[in-house]
Amino acid sequence: MHNQNDTIAAIATPLGTGGVAIVRISGEKSQKTISDIFSTTLKEKNTPDFKPNRIYHGWIIDNHSPIDEVIVLCFKAPNSYTGEDVFEIQCHGGINVVKNILKLCLKSGARLAEKGEFSKRAFINGKLDLSKAEAVLDLIHSKTDKFSQAAAGNLSGNLSKHINNLRQEVLDLLSIMTAAIDFPEEVDEPEYSFIEEKLNSFIARINDILKTANSSNLMRDGLKVAFAGKPNVGKSSLFNALLDMERAIVTEIPGTTRDIIQESLDIDGIPVVLMDTAGIRKLDSQNSSDYIESIGINNTKTCIENADLILFIYDLTQGLQSEDLAIYEEIKDKKVLKIGSKADLINNCHSEGFSPKNLSNFQTEQILRFAQDDNVIKNPLTISAKEKTGLDSIKKEIKKLLITEDTSSEFCTNARQQECLAISRNSLEQALTASINKEIQDLISIDLKSALIALGEITGEVVSEEIINNIFDNFCIGK
Ligand code: GDP
Repeated sequence: MHNQNDTIAAIATPLGTGGVAIVRISGEKSQKTISDIFSTTLKEKNTPDFKPNRIYHGWIIDNHSPIDEVIVLCFKAPNSYTGEDVFEIQCHGGINVVKNILKLCLKSGARLAEKGEFSKRAFINGKLDLSKAEAVLDLIHSKTDKFSQAAAGNLSGNLSKHINNLRQEVLDLLSIMTAAIDFPEEVDEPEYSFIEEKLNSFIARINDILKTANSSNLMRDGLKVAFAGKPNVGKSSLFNALLDMERAIVTEIPGTTRDIIQESLDIDGIPVVLMDTAGIRKLDSQNSSDYIESIGINNTKTCIENADLILFIYDLTQGLQSEDLAIYEEIKDKKVLKIGSKADLINNCHSEGFSPKNLSNFQTEQILRFAQDDNVIKNPLTISAKEKTGLDSIKKEIKKLLITEDTSSEFCTNARQQECLAISRNSLEQALTASINKEIQDLISIDLKSALIALGEITGEVVSEEIINNIFDNFCIGK
């Protein structure tokens, strides 16, 4: 366990080649560290008397040799992200440059920051409550605009505001009850009907916040949609068409896709991860390239098991064949959306049903029977990846089948916060039952205190070291 008083440094930007990279230093001795390695001129060492909220142009130097031309941002305690003295060095974004600057910081007395240590210090120094710190994490990892907005809402205090108001009102009720318990001669007990009215409103407010739980979880975790179908039915082409990019390799050679390729699609603020899989087909076990493909097929099976929805794709020009039906057998217990591909090759094919001219009567009959058997949708969707038709109906169906939540909330919650809310609601419900049963108010106040503790854990007013460490461990170094 490192000392909280150490001065820490880390690279705050992703390691890679880019225009700019940032090294961040925070702590009591950060000014000494930057003064050792920064000079406004190259001719002679010239250290500015760093003033807060100012930007300095100059050089990072190592024994008078220039390392990089940089600008340095200066923040002084308590007006900085961490609440301590903070210096940010903006250097050129080369891996070597930024690593060398970090090394110099460490040589000049700073130690390498742990994961999330800057944000943890911000929390400890009262610059950031816990729900805001978690919002920073969500903002960094958000995959859709809607979730970014909700996370930014939390960062601006939307969730904390609701929780703090609620907490204050629970505290007010508790104070009235405690005053009557402590000074029975001077203060009257509140009416039970008054307590019940209050408790009911608190519970309703927690329920309102928890209503957003499912959509928050969906926006954070996303949904998995796997493609299944025999080789060459057009899975990769559809994958690319839905994403509107050339991500998966498309060839007419069966078995081209061996790895599972994943990309995220934004459907109504929910990141839907599309997973293009190797097709499933019978393999020749003697053939080594078949062996590699068989690994792909096993991965496909796992991927299908974990998916929230399967897009089952078959080639309309071939109709349903025994191989298709064998695959369908394997997935039919999951949520399946059936898709007939290559509609452009078939005349008169439309989404209300089939009258494909090029198919034999037997094939058409099979398709129609197959469509009728389906419990999820009446008719398969017919699409053409080539002509990009039917793609919107696929997105609409995914939305209809998987996304039943309203995603338009001004804030979001995570599993930890939802658990605290549920515990708090549970205590309030116990208090309500006790009040309805006209139990002594001393007893009711115990439940109110538990509700308060659980609410306090959300913003971090009352929280254990373990929870704090757990949260900040999920951050990256430099944040
Ligand atoms: P996968 O093995 O199921 O991933 O199938 P691919 O996406 O690699 O496609 C197999 C072949 O079918 C390729 O030659 C594609 O160009 C062709 N194909 C895929 N989708 C369509 C489509 O909508 N229309 C037409 N005409 N050809 C398609």
